[in-house]
Amino acid sequence: MRIAIGGLSHEANTFCPKPTTWNDFASRSVVRGEALFEGVAGTNTERAGALAVLTERSDCEVIPTLLASALSGAPVQADTFHALLDELLQRLSAALPLDGVLLVLHGAMMSTDEEDATGVILREVRRVVGPDVPIVGTLDLHANVTAQMVACADALIGYHTAPHVDMFETGEAAARILLATVDGRVRPRMALRRLPMIVPSENARHTDGPLSEVIGMARELEEQGAILHGGVYPVQPWLDISDVGCSVVVVTDGDVGAAERHAERLGRAFWERRAAFGVDLVPADEALRRALERPAGTVVLCDSADSPTSGATGDSNVILRAALAAEPLSGRVLLNAVDAPAVSRAVAAGVGANVRVRVGGRLAPAFFEPVTFTGYVKTISDGVFWFKGPGARGTVQSMGRAVVLTRGEIHLVVMERAVSQWDPELYRSVGEEPSDARAVQVKSPAAFRAAYGAFMDEAIIVASPGPSTSDLMSLPWRRIRRPLYPFDADATF
Ligand SMILES: [Zn+2]
Repeated sequence: MRIAIGGLSHEANTFCPKPTTWNDFASRSVVRGEALFEGVAGTNTERAGALAVLTERSDCEVIPTLLASALSGAPVQADTFHALLDELLQRLSAALPLDGVLLVLHGAMMSTDEEDATGVILREVRRVVGPDVPIVGTLDLHANVTAQMVACADALIGYHTAPHVDMFETGEAAARILLATVDGRVRPRMALRRLPMIVPSENARHTDGPLSEVIGMARELEEQGAILHGGVYPVQPWLDISDVGCSVVVVTDGDVGAAERHAERLGRAFWERRAAFGVDLVPADEALRRALERPAGTVVLCDSADSPTSGATGDSNVILRAALAAEPLSGRVLLNAVDAPAVSRAVAAGVGANVRVRVGGRLAPAFFEPVTFTGYVKTISDGVFWFKGPGARGTVQSMGRAVVLTRGEIHLVVMERAVSQWDPELYRSVGEEPSDARAVQVKSPAAFRAAYGAFMDEAIIVASPGPSTSDLMSLPWRRIRRPLYPFDADATF
């Protein structure tokens, strides 16, 4: 049998002012043809999981096409999206005849001309391969699952974890269902239940709290063999589009009625827990004070409002401002911000120099303003590092050039490009040890807990403006369809 693998992956945030362009894909990951087989060993990725299953079968010829992803951000520029999609379709078309297609997707991708970019990818792949070739797609837990996506795929298989740690298992599960479908051992049938609600990400976790209970119910059904897959999706909430909401997707073997019944039950359980997703936010100065008052240990200052993996720009300096106002500090504080011009200034001055730079607040001026920072250039780095923690383990990350500027107890990493902040390697790669610091700024709502959990004593979620704030009511919504929880008390499931 001939199985094609490929996909396009990106998570949109419509409040992010910085457009997502070809460079954002090129600097993250664009892999073509045979290169899809390379560099996957030991990585926690959907690609690695899917390839492990597909290449195990001696009768399965895997045809690699195009796999591209960019860090979360504003909707992808239309020309970039269509260039990538066209290439994927051309490669699939050239590979025909095919027995199946496995697509690595996110599910909350948008382009500047398509609100449901993931649905468009699935629709166009379906058009190329025809109605009878099974298509199975993988989704991030934060997918905005649409009717079009479900209509154009045979099965959609999502993460069961947040912090995300099951990319490999998701790829494996998708490949197994695809092979079983091609063999005729199962006939996947899907039911989608959309909920008129969005929730912040901080408390949407599989480890504890309200989402864990709903995911637990879905997993139980899978383990009982009642369903093939139960996807519970607390959508990436920063999508100001009409068709946005949390959802549940149940995949059964040949039984649409059962899929619908289980989706209804899981959807209701999710809906009934909606108030439990609320987040306690602490002002930056108070959060910093609480961290420094502790006699020992490390506190993560969770700056989720500026999370690059939620589509923010990474150049918030709200906590930096609070730290400068609180000097002298009684313990080490690790902070970070994106600011390419500040990096250039520090690199030009060189290690050992003192510099005065304006930091942050350039990329998302609706939320932040630059701060003047005078400090010592301690480290200059190429900004490349590898994730070592459980989430996306083994994947390479690039901050562009990065510098460490110090001023008393403040150690500030300034980078040219935003990067995922799931892993303490961000700091370790430039010589700063988070477990030795009293407070560490981490721009991620929940995913950081997988790696930082090994040593952090507490995480305080900081009240801050930003394109990925959990204070959803504070954002300038214009296009969402009402009623929608938490905006409307009369929203009903
Ligand atoms: Zn996610």
